[in-house]
Amino acid sequence: MWEPRGLLFAAMLRDVASLLIALSALAHAQNPGVNLSVYLSNPDAASPVVASTIRAELRELMGASGIGVAWHDGSGSVEGRLAVVRFEGICRSDAPNPLLPQYVTRDPEALGSTHVSNGDVLPFADVKCDQIRRFVAIPISKAGNVEARDEMLGRAVARVIAHELYHIVLRTKDHGKKGLARATQTASQLVSPRLAFSHEDERRLSAETAPVTAVDEEVAVTERVRNER
Ligand SMILES: [Zn+2]
Repeated sequence: MWEPRGLLFAAMLRDVASLLIALSALAHAQNPGVNLSVYLSNPDAASPVVASTIRAELRELMGASGIGVAWHDGSGSVEGRLAVVRFEGICRSDAPNPLLPQYVTRDPEALGSTHVSNGDVLPFADVKCDQIRRFVAIPISKAGNVEARDEMLGRAVARVIAHELYHIVLRTKDHGKKGLARATQTASQLVSPRLAFSHEDERRLSAETAPVTAVDEEVAVTERVRNER
């Protein structure tokens, strides 16, 4: 996670913030299995195979913490909490590999970032597809065809999104000691068939998104008792 800086970034933050306010006005729980809605602000940046792999991988990664993810299309009600994710660059393996010096990074944390304002974690994440493609270029080059390469890239992108969702759901800038919430991953870990949050982090994520129905019912009962007096 990096702190946002610069006028351009501030302007973008305002735009996303107004979108969030508009969507939040419609928020209410519809499906009891869904407690996190993810809005992709530019889904066309990803190829169809990358996009479907992201959805499947995130369903598994977040589902292990009891978090049901719905993909919001920008209209209608929001189910549960909302996170806004924006792709930077191109999320498809057949795009030209970005070799320009400004893309060169050895810092895996720079593969994604979550916005922070006055020390508070905001529900907006940027996923840097060009940097991810460069970071996993070697393991992906060993895959047999474009579809297999897109599946590996999709797994890597999904894990970067899940890492940022960890910051957003727990509203924390801190990192876990093990698994996907760690501050760094290697390229081979990022595309490996299995990478998950630690059980400890899964418990924390689960507790943070647990339904509050019991509290609602308690309030409802208290009000009924008061009305009957
Ligand atoms: Zn992080």
